[in-house]
Amino acid sequence: MRLAVALAGLLFAAANHSNDSAHSYRGYTSQSAATEAQWEGKFRDLPDRDRIRENMKRLSARPHHVGSPYDKDNAEWLLAQLKSYGLEAQIENFTTLFPTPKSRLLELEGPAPFKAKLQEPVVSVDPTSNQAAEQLPTYNAYSRDGDVTGPLVYVNYGRPEDYEVLERMGISVKGAVVIARYGASWRGIKPKVAAEHGAVGCIIYSDPSEDGYVQGDAFPAGPTRPPEGVQRGSVMDMPVYPGDPQTPGVGAVEGVKLIPLDQVRTITKIPVLPISYADATPFLKALQGETVPDAWRGALPLTYHVGPSTAKAHLAVSFNWDRKPLYDVIARIPGAKYPDQWVIRGNHHDAWVNGAEDPLSGTSPELEEARALGELVKQGWKPQRTIIYCFWDGEEPALLGSTEWAEAHGDELKQHAVAYFNSDGNGRGYFHAGGSHSLENFVNEVAKDIDDPETKMTVWKRVRLVDISRAKGKDRDEIRSRADLRIPALGSGSDYTVFVDHLGVASVNLGFGGEDEGGQYHSIYDDFYWYTHFQDTDFSYGRALAQTAGTMMMRIADADVLPFQFGDLADTVHLYVTQLKTLATDKRDEIKERNREINEGVYDALKDPKKTLVPPKTEDVPPYLNFAPLEQASDELTEAAQAYDKAFDAAAGNGPADVNNDLLRSERVLTDDAGLPNRPWFQHVLYAPGFYTGYGVKTIPGVREAIEQKRWSEADEQIKRTATALEHEVDLLKQATKLLEPNGSK
Ligand SMILES: [Zn+2]
Repeated sequence: MRLAVALAGLLFAAANHSNDSAHSYRGYTSQSAATEAQWEGKFRDLPDRDRIRENMKRLSARPHHVGSPYDKDNAEWLLAQLKSYGLEAQIENFTTLFPTPKSRLLELEGPAPFKAKLQEPVVSVDPTSNQAAEQLPTYNAYSRDGDVTGPLVYVNYGRPEDYEVLERMGISVKGAVVIARYGASWRGIKPKVAAEHGAVGCIIYSDPSEDGYVQGDAFPAGPTRPPEGVQRGSVMDMPVYPGDPQTPGVGAVEGVKLIPLDQVRTITKIPVLPISYADATPFLKALQGETVPDAWRGALPLTYHVGPSTAKAHLAVSFNWDRKPLYDVIARIPGAKYPDQWVIRGNHHDAWVNGAEDPLSGTSPELEEARALGELVKQGWKPQRTIIYCFWDGEEPALLGSTEWAEAHGDELKQHAVAYFNSDGNGRGYFHAGGSHSLENFVNEVAKDIDDPETKMTVWKRVRLVDISRAKGKDRDEIRSRADLRIPALGSGSDYTVFVDHLGVASVNLGFGGEDEGGQYHSIYDDFYWYTHFQDTDFSYGRALAQTAGTMMMRIADADVLPFQFGDLADTVHLYVTQLKTLATDKRDEIKERNREINEGVYDALKDPKKTLVPPKTEDVPPYLNFAPLEQASDELTEAAQAYDKAFDAAAGNGPADVNNDLLRSERVLTDDAGLPNRPWFQHVLYAPGFYTGYGVKTIPGVREAIEQKRWSEADEQIKRTATALEHEVDLLKQATKLLEPNGSK
């Protein structure tokens, strides 16, 4: 899984605040910075584009999904490579639920019967597109078994707000098979919301407006999805918990107790199947009823109707509900000074099919990074902290490999993990990074040391200028005036999820992109031929990724004092609190205004007698929420962060070892053991994937989702819980500040 590269909000910021004398790195004495600069310089010369290309060629040669022969073969090859670089390496095994299709049928009944092909055809110039015997068929993993028939209704992207529009149009999906288009929300949300509204089945298709001919020429002439291309993917309810559905919260090791299948919360309630737009067209043509609102139109040459259809759709799917082996490849370079402080790097190696872009465009540079670090060790470099390189299996179905590994090692990770750096796919273009805001300054610092292969300016400078060109008004002013480019918070969609959301390990997700069109996401055509014709064809951005992520690993591993910075965190928390207050006010005003319009007869006036428009119902006006605990904690955090950052700067890289032990816990204290309401696995109080967005982040999620979903007493309760976690951060910072001050007390 890879998030589309969205730059909006990603970067901003400005002003070169270094004094540019020699090298000054956050958390380093001037002497150790000089040594570090030498090693980093050697490191950044090492990653080799041809080797990255060869890594991808080897790993993408055959389909390598969970449980396939080549998945295991790749893991063993990765292991052998890592050992040959001189790293300690091993494979860690888990066994997890991974359903694969037994039977798939989708047909349209009635006057113009049609049976969907459900097959991506061979493309003659593409040499791996014909490996049918090893390709997983097109399907959505963790759909339940089912055989359903019903009228069709078009639900746009299938988000909660799309059903509000349908309701206003007087359309119910009860007993219907819904057809939703890919895009706008994570795919697992579509069947979840459809089932909540009473639908019996869900079809998801790739409209050419999203990743087909509207975006560029179709494959093989160009990069975008051809008429019969299909997006596979998981539809598990991962906002509840990711990982093995039968072992939430614990590692799926030998002998672990399994939740019976019929008690698993994360499998869909209705059957789901993804299809191409070639297969979807007859179904869309069968829809009757009113034409859709403007924003609901796709790019097919037909008039989009909401339905329902008189012709019925018949959807029947069944799966092998087997448990399959996972092969996580884990390599280590032990730390010389702080072996018990771990800096972790990861990218998955499994794919839906051949997976050149997703994930190997990230995996291949990661392997090259590990080789380069092994080379430095041979030359005498000794990292101060332990470095761990992970190549995860089973990311595509449900973040299986990373989640099970981190759950199995949860207690150790809580004690030892400093930070986790993730990538998942990589492209040509601009640097992007998201993550924990205590690392925002660090991410900016490293990005200023990496050269962009195309423009030769630094990747930091390039993305800042691109952001300026895209921003407006105040946002643009902020980019120009703020020292650090802001980094967006992480939602979900890749292997950082268990680290940041479950364990409270400060995490960063990074990569490059924005200059290449995608279009083969989770298709058989995401392969070496396609990638080397249309994406980062000379692997210069693969090299840039290895340089960037490897530099981050080295710089945090070797720091005298861990380079967390809390001014940016406090500023971000303040921003989130302000947004929440605005959200609560807007909700109240919106409901008041709508109630008023209903009473005034606005909806009667708007009514076109030839169309259906059901007026909304009046609602209770929400109560005022008490944000005081959160505002208080946010203010205290700002003060404590200023004091800490001042003491940190004055210490200039000097400080007792104890301060690192405090800093190591600085993200952990932002978790709440009770977790979020109704989903206790998610424990971070600042970040979580949205319950109804799936990948998209909700910041201060306990409070934000309570407001959005109009649970007012829960919002008050969550304000207090979030404030408590922030107070813990304040206490920790005060203690760390004391340690850094001259004659720092213990
Ligand atoms: Zn991926």
